[in-house]
Amino acid sequence: MSNKTSGIETIGIVGAGTMGSGIALAALYAGFEVVLQDEFSEALQKGNAYIQKFLEKKDQTERAKALTLADDLKALTGCDVVIEAALEQLEVKHEIFAKLDEICGPDTILASNTSTLSVTAIAANTQHPERVAGMHFFNPAPVLPLVEVIRAAQTSDATIDALMALAEALGKTPVLVSDTPGFIVNRVARPFYGEALRLLGEGVANHAQIDQIVEQGGGFRMGPFRLMDLIGIDINAGAMRSMYEQTFGEPRYRPHPIQMQKLAEGALGRKSGRGFYTYADGQAEEVFPEIKADGGQSQLVISEGSWAPGLAELCAEAGYEVVPVADGDQKPAACIVVAGRGEEAARLVSWYDQALDPGVPLIVQCADTTLSEIATWMQNPRGLIGFDGLFLATGKVATLCALEGVSSDLRGKAEALFAALGRRVIWVGESPALVLPRIVCQLVNEAAFAELEGVVDGETIDLAMRLGVNYPQGPLEWGAALGHDKVLAVLDHLYTEYHEERYRACILLRRWAR
Ligand code: NAD
Repeated sequence: MSNKTSGIETIGIVGAGTMGSGIALAALYAGFEVVLQDEFSEALQKGNAYIQKFLEKKDQTERAKALTLADDLKALTGCDVVIEAALEQLEVKHEIFAKLDEICGPDTILASNTSTLSVTAIAANTQHPERVAGMHFFNPAPVLPLVEVIRAAQTSDATIDALMALAEALGKTPVLVSDTPGFIVNRVARPFYGEALRLLGEGVANHAQIDQIVEQGGGFRMGPFRLMDLIGIDINAGAMRSMYEQTFGEPRYRPHPIQMQKLAEGALGRKSGRGFYTYADGQAEEVFPEIKADGGQSQLVISEGSWAPGLAELCAEAGYEVVPVADGDQKPAACIVVAGRGEEAARLVSWYDQALDPGVPLIVQCADTTLSEIATWMQNPRGLIGFDGLFLATGKVATLCALEGVSSDLRGKAEALFAALGRRVIWVGESPALVLPRIVCQLVNEAAFAELEGVVDGETIDLAMRLGVNYPQGPLEWGAALGHDKVLAVLDHLYTEYHEERYRACILLRRWAR
């Protein structure tokens, strides 16, 4: 049996590692003849064992007849398409493509599964660069539906058409991307790792807390540290370094010293038994403290403002009477300020501070202002607690922070309140934009830059992030749902606090916000 829908019958694959053997399996499932080549026989055997295991699991052992294993590149002579999935090093790819150029006839399409390298540079080293393109699968290749087809400067339309059709024949969703560092997914996902590493490096929270906030608060399937451990810290750091170098030092892609320390230590993630987590028992660490929920039968003051969408409804559902200001002798469970900076938060905070009993916690959203600045608006900041309102109602987590000197009694009252709203509480250190606003708004910003720079259109960016890395929402649709004005305010706040080019907002985002 062979699959002729794409005009391609035999697929050659160079490299029988994680990706090469995964692509080979996907091609066998789809009915293609496959020649899998690796210069190391041990790697070839390992790749073959993986393929046979899954063919057996899926009751498709007869497909094994369509697989040829080879240690010599010459075995790829008769292939219609060759997909290279060897090491992520330009010199290695140059060498392989130069040999393929000699071995394969001029009609054979040569594709690279590179994650970050320039396909134009790979093509430039061949005699027929028009038949060279990128074909970027995602791990695990037999499962994940996205394939980025990358058009190098020299790639012909016929080559692109054939690879798009091939991806479809493999049961995948192909997206056509221009040849820019990291293409769509590896580029737009950079801040997911980069901002998480910075939060860890600044001691805002530990790796397990950040993962839990991202997973349970943001709806991501895996937090950044769990995902880096799965991908391999070496692979992830390599992608970061490659993009940083190719962009002549774009600060958004700057590798973090924590990654380098992990590499030096040999803690590469799951594959070495230890990364950010230890995999002896494979258990994630528990980070949520036990909290007794508030009775939920008292009054709550919630200010005007739009920085905690859905909060008032959550409070009402939990049995609180939501009032604009506490009347007479009523002592509310808390006063929550959900105004943004532009909505006169300073005036509101100062007013509540004076109007309320000091035993009432003043809980202020701080995605676009830091807690220490909010404290300067108050006569008596002893009752001040910060929270992330933007992601409170859509997630299951309440991210809280407090300055030194806030009593455990006031902290306890705030915890009990959020527990009554059905949220798990995580205390983090004071930090601009806390955890989720910082990570998600930088993802939106990166997606806006990718659109601005013509990598691909916005809808395709969102599709790629949902299919390639399972994001709960595409970053651009997420940005629109949060409100472009808010995303911009968070980014401008980060920029003001850090004075770093890394946090400059994309002009497209600024335009959308206007
Ligand atoms: P890997 O280390 O698991 O496998 C690479 C394989 O290539 C090894 O088996 C090695 O023996 C073989 N090899 C090395 N030099 C060779 C040569 N000259 N000729 C033939 N075989 C050779 O790596 P991987 O994770 O499968 O990545 C392969 C490529 O796919 C890289 O370019 C990587 O950036 C890209 N990629 C990786 C992922 C991922 O999540 N691992 C995802 C998408 C793309």
